[in-house]
Parts: sequence; structure tokens; C-alpha cells
Amino acid sequence: MSDNYLHLVSSDPLWQPDETAAEAAVGIARGLFPQAEHIGVAYKEGVTFFDAGANTESVHCAFCGGDLEDWWGDAMGQAAASDFSNLTIVTPCCGKSTSLNDLSYGWPAAFGTCALTVVNPGATSLGADQLRRIELAIGSPLKAIWQHL
Ligand SMILES: [Zn+2]
Repeated sequence: MSDNYLHLVSSDPLWQPDETAAEAAVGIARGLFPQAEHIGVAYKEGVTFFDAGANTESVHCAFCGGDLEDWWGDAMGQAAASDFSNLTIVTPCCGKSTSLNDLSYGWPAAFGTCALTVVNPGATSLGADQLRRIELAIGSPLKAIWQHL
């Protein structure tokens, strides 16, 4: 049996909520996903890449739409060597300075040191208004990463 995860990751890779905000956000998520197997906030020791798992499809430049899939593996390897402490890159297609966190991933992906994770949410979507409620509780804009393993 495969598992599905919904990771909610701050748009700022280094941001972490305090315990009270994290608990409030988990409480709201429990209301939105009553069938979920588990909901919790996990703090990571360093920056972690949350991707779509088996859903991962493609990587494109957010500026010109260039296909970055071949280049991206090397760029990720270099960033991983420094524990993702520096995500700054220059796009090989059009020479723009940006971040690995701001590329166009076919399925959303994000770098973060913390995630609110819903295990087997029993749903496959999260409405913008629902996401907004969790963002207000936790205190940061969030990216929703649907991961299928
Ligand atoms: Zn480009």
C-alpha cells in the first residue's frame, strides 16, 4: 500500500513557527482532514527538500520556461553538499539570478526546515481558503506539497 502526504512548508526555507502557532495550525488541519492518519509539525535539523515523490515530473525555469531537468540534478547535488544553506543559482537558460526554491516544479516542491505534515489525508486537494486559515494560524505563507510514496 502506498502512502500520501500533504506537507505544508513555509515560503521562507529558514522560517519555523513557535510551538503555540504550530499547535493552532495542527488543530485547524485536524478539522479539515478528519480522516487523516496523523497530523503533526516536524522540525528538521537543516534545510530539507520536500518534493512530490513519485509525482515529481519536471523542472522548468520560472522566467523563460526552459527545461532544466538535466541541469537541475547537478545543481541540487552542489546545493546538497552545503546542506542547502545556499539555494542561490543562475539559470543556465537565460542567466537570471534566482533560487532553487523558485523554479517551476511540475508538482509543487519546497525547501524548508519545518513542515506541517498530514499523513494519508483522505483528500486530494486543499482549498485556497482552507490553506489561508492554516497560514493565519501558523503565521507564514505556505506551499502545499502533495507527496505520493
Ligand atoms: Zn530561463
